[in-house]
Order: sequence, then structure tokens, then C-alpha cells
Amino acid sequence: MTMTKEVFQKEFCDKLTTTFGKNVEEATDKEAFQAISLMLKDELHRKWQRTQQAYQDQDHKQVYYFSMEFLLGRLIETNLLNVGWLNICREALTDFGFHSEEVFCEEHDAGLGNGGLGRLAACFLDSLASLKLPGHGVGIRYKYGLFQQKMVNGYQVELPDYWLKDDYMWETKREEEAVEIRFGGTVHTIQRDQKLCFEHRDYERVLAIPYDVPIVGYQNDVVNTLQLWSAESMSNHFHFQSPNGHDYYHYLDYKRSVEQISEFLYPDDSYYEGKLLRLKQQYFLVSAGLQSILQKHKKSNLSIQQIPDYISLQINDTHPSLIVPELMRLLLDEEGLGWDEAWSITTSTVAYTNHTTLNEALETWPQEMFQTLLPRIYMIIEEINERFCRMLWHDFPELRDSIHQMAIISYGTIHMAHLSMVGSYSINGVAKLHTNILKKRVMKPFYTVFPERFNNKTNGITHRRWLLNANPELANLLSTTIGKGWIKEPKELIQLLKFAHDSSFQEAISNVKLRNKQAFASFIYKQYGIVIDEQSIFDVHIKRLHGYKRQLLNIFHILHLYHLCRENPHLQMTPRTFIFGAKAAPGYHFAKNVIKLITSAAEKINNDPVAKDKIKIIFLENYNVSLAERIIPAADVSEQISTASKEASGTGNMKLMMNGALTLGTRDGANVEIAEMVGPDNLFTFGLTSEEVFEYQRNGQYRARDVYNSDQRLRTVLDQLVTQFFSNDDVEFKDIYYSLLMKNDEFFVLKDFDSYVEAQQLVDQTYRHQQTWLKKSITNIAHSGKFSSDRTISQYANEIWGIHPVEI
Ligand SMILES: *Cc1c(COP(=O)(O)O)cnc(C)c1O
Repeated sequence: MTMTKEVFQKEFCDKLTTTFGKNVEEATDKEAFQAISLMLKDELHRKWQRTQQAYQDQDHKQVYYFSMEFLLGRLIETNLLNVGWLNICREALTDFGFHSEEVFCEEHDAGLGNGGLGRLAACFLDSLASLKLPGHGVGIRYKYGLFQQKMVNGYQVELPDYWLKDDYMWETKREEEAVEIRFGGTVHTIQRDQKLCFEHRDYERVLAIPYDVPIVGYQNDVVNTLQLWSAESMSNHFHFQSPNGHDYYHYLDYKRSVEQISEFLYPDDSYYEGKLLRLKQQYFLVSAGLQSILQKHKKSNLSIQQIPDYISLQINDTHPSLIVPELMRLLLDEEGLGWDEAWSITTSTVAYTNHTTLNEALETWPQEMFQTLLPRIYMIIEEINERFCRMLWHDFPELRDSIHQMAIISYGTIHMAHLSMVGSYSINGVAKLHTNILKKRVMKPFYTVFPERFNNKTNGITHRRWLLNANPELANLLSTTIGKGWIKEPKELIQLLKFAHDSSFQEAISNVKLRNKQAFASFIYKQYGIVIDEQSIFDVHIKRLHGYKRQLLNIFHILHLYHLCRENPHLQMTPRTFIFGAKAAPGYHFAKNVIKLITSAAEKINNDPVAKDKIKIIFLENYNVSLAERIIPAADVSEQISTASKEASGTGNMKLMMNGALTLGTRDGANVEIAEMVGPDNLFTFGLTSEEVFEYQRNGQYRARDVYNSDQRLRTVLDQLVTQFFSNDDVEFKDIYYSLLMKNDEFFVLKDFDSYVEAQQLVDQTYRHQQTWLKKSITNIAHSGKFSSDRTISQYANEIWGIHPVEI
């Protein structure tokens, strides 16, 4: 049945009655949201069942994307869009006197991720379903997602994100599919029928229960699954026997410790901390996901040997890399296979994506802790390591001196990236530059041993969420200009190039941008009581706060501009609104200090009449997916200013270009490919190259203090950090000051300052010529089709997974 407004309204009223016993006049926004979700669920679950049936009946190869993070944001709008009800629903709600935006905002963001890595996983699920590919997500149902950021007197304060408070409308608990996970205990070697067997005893038992979330394809009847696992205690783990109640208290202790496993997401991004609970989470995810996948495989009467023909397991960074020894364990201990056969199956099934070159993000575990928690898994890793090192010794004599650097276990430490590379048939980086750095530097010896495994898959974003949904006005303009083809084939956006110089199209683009800026400005006014100039350049720097992402460089430039305004009240500059959004890891002192510097600068500059008409700084509280969807359509400038070589890809850069913002960026990550596509005239590039950064790191010839001494602008800015410029507290920013001058500026902020200021001047001048600016903006939108995750996922499907679209 096709949905019409009348049918929608009738079903909506029915749902309100049957669920809440209310009519439309009485229903709250939340009840309206829940009623719509229930209507959607009825529709989706039918399609879901049909899709899963088709996958099963037709024996299609399926891929499982294992990730510790899925940063979904809200699903209400994309689900409505994907089943084709969005416009009908908006109109129906308006008729009934609701504001659809407010109704949709009743959905709490599913913030089960830190930043780019988790958002990538969410975009990939969207593309898999929209391309009709049989691919699913496997993750953890954290009770608390990434913390809520509250700003108090300019400081970040972290509050728990209890996203399940109102029930999560999309999930379905599948108690009957629960599996058991085992921790601790001892392993005993026993002889059984002439065979050496391993018996695991005295372990702690944990129940893993899956909650399935439907992942809906864009108007194509496909519904895939995101399976989120939750840890629960097993009531039959204990026999309540002792009369004095000891067993009961034991049980409560056990229950608490088990439920901790899926309690919260670690709030660190691109940083690794060797916490026992985190290791437990990783094994929990991997073991639960794998057991359930193997059970399904066996039910469909396929043999264990056929696993690589029917299943691909992608691991999102090394976080789920225990999938290698866990699959080995299941094949050896449960299925009774021999080592060589099990190893051949494993290394034809697992594929690994690397996301970082940062040392502090590479996962390693202390051997002792690991061995105590996962004794059998440790034995298997030892054996993998033995065999790998022996192979190196025999087959790669030229690498003999490097074996200790390549080993999976060395000096009491387990290296998860090494395990991932040894155990996978595919190893990919996430942008061309990043993959080349892996091959040439970070993973060079592994590239020598396994050259055929290395490949690149440049990241992408779903243009349905980030353009069609987030920026409906722009989407409509594009569709009336080049037709709707781009929605299914984002590469068709390239047709916009014909209109880049067309002055009426430029004007239309400019009007859309202005309206988006007005909408954002009124949101800012409501939320923060700050008036921003809609004619100013909206200069946007939104991403996790991290040293390498260099929010510090941005704020230094602003402080420099402010200084110019104070020196010369008649300074010619295009008014700017600098917009920041960023969460800092709770324990990352430097990052929190940078946030405070931004908010202190905002406080001072926003209230100084000298700068009033030229500079405004907005630090947005609690940056997340839903906030990103508001900011990005209003952005003019996209700050992508990481130290070259440090940002593996970046995806914020892609979302912003797709919405017509011009990139101000270093030659890092996917910026390089954005520049390649749009050409050097259509973005603003500055700063050291990655090769220059590597060369300075090698020769040690960078002296931050020399740059400081020779640049009056930097001296002014840096000295303000320690001279009560912002407050009476002159030690507040001394750590930033010292990190630059005493610790020699690890991220080359001072080194790139001059080049950044120059690029910013060019931004200012270019913006004054609106036609030139708009031409560049249109050119960016036109080339953004390449950065759709549909392109990325097609490449994964064809080049790594070998999976094909399925007709439902
Ligand atoms: C896209 C996105 C990111 C990643 O941004 P980068 O600029 O690539 O670091 C982080 N957080 C949210 C909420 C996002 O939507």
C-alpha cells in the first residue's frame, strides 16, 4: 500500500489511541515521536524479515562489520526518508499543529562512538543497505554513550549520557539468541582419542544478549541489521546453597562486575589506555559476534570449510582484533579442526582497516593481564606468534634484525596491530596518503612480507544524511538543476560544474546558504543569547579536541586578528564568526586547556567593542551528530588543519565540502584527494607537507623557540597566555605555553602559523568577490560525489569482501 498523508494521519491517530489512550490534541511531542516510530517499526520489520529470508534462502555471502563504535545519531528522519514517508509525515504533523523538527528532536542521539571512526561505521551501514548489499554491523550496546558535554564557566564538565532513559525505539531484544562468554579460569591440556585437547575450567560465565537495530536502505526494501550486544549475569552461574547468605552476596558482586562490561564507552579518541575493562569489552564483542555468526552459518547447512566463501569479517581498527584468535579457538576447540586448516580459514575471512599512524593510538596489552583474563586466547596468540616469527626467519633473511619489532608478543607486550596484519587477508588504510605512509613507514616490514594484502579505501560519508537530509534546501536546488539522479548516483553531482559560472545558479546557491546561516544564527541566539552577523564568514572547526587537530592554531590566529583590531580600529577585514565544536577526553588535560582558551578568548573578544563587528567566537556545547547536521549546511569555511601526516583521512572535511564550504586545510588525509578533485584554486592549502614533518622528526632541526623569537605576532599571542590577559589567573594556560616552547611544539603549530595566517588572508579576500567564492563553492559540491560512502562501500564490496547486491 502506498502511503498518503490521509493514511498516515489515520494510522498516527490510531497509534496514539492504542499506545497512549490519547487523541492528537492531547499528545505531547514525545508521544508523537513514539507513535511515528511504532508506525515505522511495523513497516520496517516486515521488510527486515523479507530481507533476512532472502539472504538465507539464496545463500549469499554476507559481511559483518565489527566495531567498538557506531555513532548513529538520530534515526527517525533517515528512516522516514528511506521508506519514502518523510514529506508526508512532515505535512501530516504540521496539519495537526506539531513542529516536525521538535517532534524529531525527541529522539536521543545514539552516541555509541567518539568521533570519525564511529561515524564512519554508521555511514557504512547506511551505504551497505542502500546499495542492497548483505552487510551488517556488530557492536556493543553501551548503557552510557559518549559523555554529554556541559560548559560551566568556560570549562568542560562531563555528564553521563543515559540514552536509554526513554527506551530505544528501534531496537529489538533477542533473548533467544544469547550466547555465553567465558573469562579467566585455567586451561588444561588433555589427551582425547589420540588428540591433544584444551579444556577451559573455572571460568566466569557472562551472558551476551543481542539487541538488533534495523538498518534501512534508501527506498529499496532492504533492511540489514546492526547487532548490539549487552552483558548480563547468568542466574544459574551460582548454586545458592549456603544458609548464611554468602552465595547471595557473591552473586550480587558477580552481577555488578558482569554488567559493567557493557556499561560505558571509553571516551578516548585516537588514544589507547591499557584498561582491563576495555580488554573485556573487546573480547566480549568479538566472542559474542563470532559465536552467533557461526551458529547461523551452521544452521544453513554449510560446512565449516565454506566459511570464507560465505562470510567476511571486517575489523574497524584493531579494537576487535581478538577476532583472529577467537575464530581460531572456535575452529580448533569447538569444531575440532587442525591448526593449518583453521589458520587458512581465519586468514581468508578476516580483513583489517587501520585508522591511525599515531603511536599513542596503537593498542598493546601487558602480557600478564591478558593471560589472566583470556588464558586460552593467549595460548593461541603465542602459537600464531611462534609460527609467524619462524616463517620470517626462514623466508625473509633480510628481515632477521627486525623480527623483534614485528613480533606479536615481545618483551611482555602484545601488539594488536601486528596480530591484525598477520591474521588478515586484507589490510587497508583510509586515504591515499595514509595508506602510503603505512606502506612506506609505519608498517614497512609488514608490507615487505605481505605486499598483496595492502590496499587503500578512501573514506566517505553518506550523502543521504549529510546532504539530502541535513540540507533539504540545497538538495532541492540540486535536484531541480540536474535532476534527482544524484541521490542514487552521487557522482552525478559532477553535472553541476556546468553551472559553476552561471550567475543565476550562483545566486540561488548563495540564497540557500544565507537561509541556512540565518537558521543557524537563530538557533545560536535561542541557545546562547549571542547575536551573530549573518553576512559574516562562518568559519567552522568541528571535531574531537586533539593536539594533532590543532584547534590551537585556529585560536592563535583569532587572537592575532584581535590584536590587529585593537591596534587599528579601522582594520579592513571581512567579518568572521568562528564556530567551534569539540569534546575533549575527560583525562586529556591539554585538550581541556585548549577548550578553556577558546572560551576565554570568546568571552573577551565577543564583549570588546573594538572587535564587535569583526570577530565573534562561538564554542558550541556538546558537539554530536545532530549538532553537526545543523552547523554544516551553514558553513562557509571548513577548517581541516591537522599536522600533515597525522589525520588518517578525516570525514568532517567531506561533509563540509558537500555542503558548499571551502576547505582551509593542510596536505593531510583526504584533504589531499579533495584538492586533487577540485583543483588547487578551489580550496586554501597551507603548511608543511607530511614529508617535511617526517624530515624534521628525523633530523630534529625544528626549534619552536626560534620561530617564537623571530615572529612578533606569535610573541604577542603566546605572551598573552601567561600575563593575565584573559583573567587574573596567569598560570591557567602555562601548560600550553610550555608545550610549545619547552616541549618543542610536537604538532608544529608555530611552524605553520605564518603560512596559516597567509591562507586566512586569502580566504578573507576571496570572500569579498562573491562570484568567485560561489564558483568555488559549486565546484566543491560538484566533486563531492566521490566522497560518498556509496563509492567507498562499493570498493570494499568488490575489492575486499566479494559480496554482491541482492534483489529483495
Ligand atoms: C564526522 C564527525 C566526526 C569526524 O570529524 P573529523 O573532522 O573527521 O574529525 C566527529 N564527530 C561527529 C559528531 C561527526 O559527525
